[in-house]
Amino acid sequence: MPATPNAIIKDLPERFQKAKESGDLLFFPSTIHKHVEGGVEYEIRLCPALQHKPNLPTPHFDAAQDQKKAEIQQGKPDPFAPPYVPNLYIGELKDVEEDTDYVVLFNKFSVVPHHILLVTKEFHSQTAPLMSSDLVQAYQLILAARAAGQRFFAFYNCGNLSGASQPHKHLQLIPIEGDGPPIEKLARSVNLEVPNKPFTLNSLPYANHIYRLPSHLGPNSDAEELSHYLMSGFMGLLDLTISSIRHDPTYPTGPPSYNVLLTLEHIHLIPRREEWYVLKETQEKLSVNSLGYAGMLLVKSDSELEAVCKEGVSNILRGTGVGSVHDLQVQGNDGEQDSAL
Ligand code: AMP
Repeated sequence: MPATPNAIIKDLPERFQKAKESGDLLFFPSTIHKHVEGGVEYEIRLCPALQHKPNLPTPHFDAAQDQKKAEIQQGKPDPFAPPYVPNLYIGELKDVEEDTDYVVLFNKFSVVPHHILLVTKEFHSQTAPLMSSDLVQAYQLILAARAAGQRFFAFYNCGNLSGASQPHKHLQLIPIEGDGPPIEKLARSVNLEVPNKPFTLNSLPYANHIYRLPSHLGPNSDAEELSHYLMSGFMGLLDLTISSIRHDPTYPTGPPSYNVLLTLEHIHLIPRREEWYVLKETQEKLSVNSLGYAGMLLVKSDSELEAVCKEGVSNILRGTGVGSVHDLQVQGNDGEQDSAL
């Protein structure tokens, strides 16, 4: 029997505690360090306990069309397929419009309390673009959290170079304190002349494509209306993302990689060309995923934190992202977007 987004959100605190106490969920405490650069107040999370968790090589899952193939590529069973660990299983959601089922699980390795995964019940590939039902279900969870007085946002690491570690399609949601992720605050500060048109944050040194959702979307919006705006926004951004990638002559072959951020107010897409950034100072490799492009990098030691600040967060994000071709996109017919900031 499917649950409702409200029930999922309401039960999180109690279930999280239980999952942690049972030992099925491993929680890694961390501290947040603010780092101001280029007018953005980045939040770098320092989590020393992660030093003991080895960096496993990222599986290549671009050809994974089914669960068995993905398991073979990964060399281990799909953790997002049944049977689910009861303490990590929160409930199921059904998208009636598209007849798609989802399972909501706790992230087994949590750095942020209440970090949840919205997983397709049937196997779909993490290289696939988001479908209407993916966006609607994630957005309804964010709305449910807002109704409960919390701010959540969703993200999706799509493709081999996006920072994803599991080949089974999953979006992720985490709570955020204050006004939202640093890059979202920048997006929010933009005064748009033309609504419903994608825009870019020109002050950031990498291609980024953002769509502002209409302000009337809310708990009273039905799935059809949510689907309409979320999909038209997402498709426009996906066109621009592919266009940015096409203009990069050395872009790796294979399906495109990109990160998606979804908040109540915006959808962000960021094309990716590298998963890892090698820090000049320490030669350490830093894996960057959607959270990095939200302005929330994760580091495992004081020395890594220092090296990241010295290197410059925007240099790191430029290194693992794709160069902006915004001017060409404004002039040409690669999809239209405005520029801001
Ligand atoms: P990503 O690395 O972006 O693909 O996200 C996958 C997430 O799933 C990671 O943050 C892992 O911590 C988490 N994860 C890995 N194994 C499990 C598992 N067995 N159950 C729940 N979450 C898991």
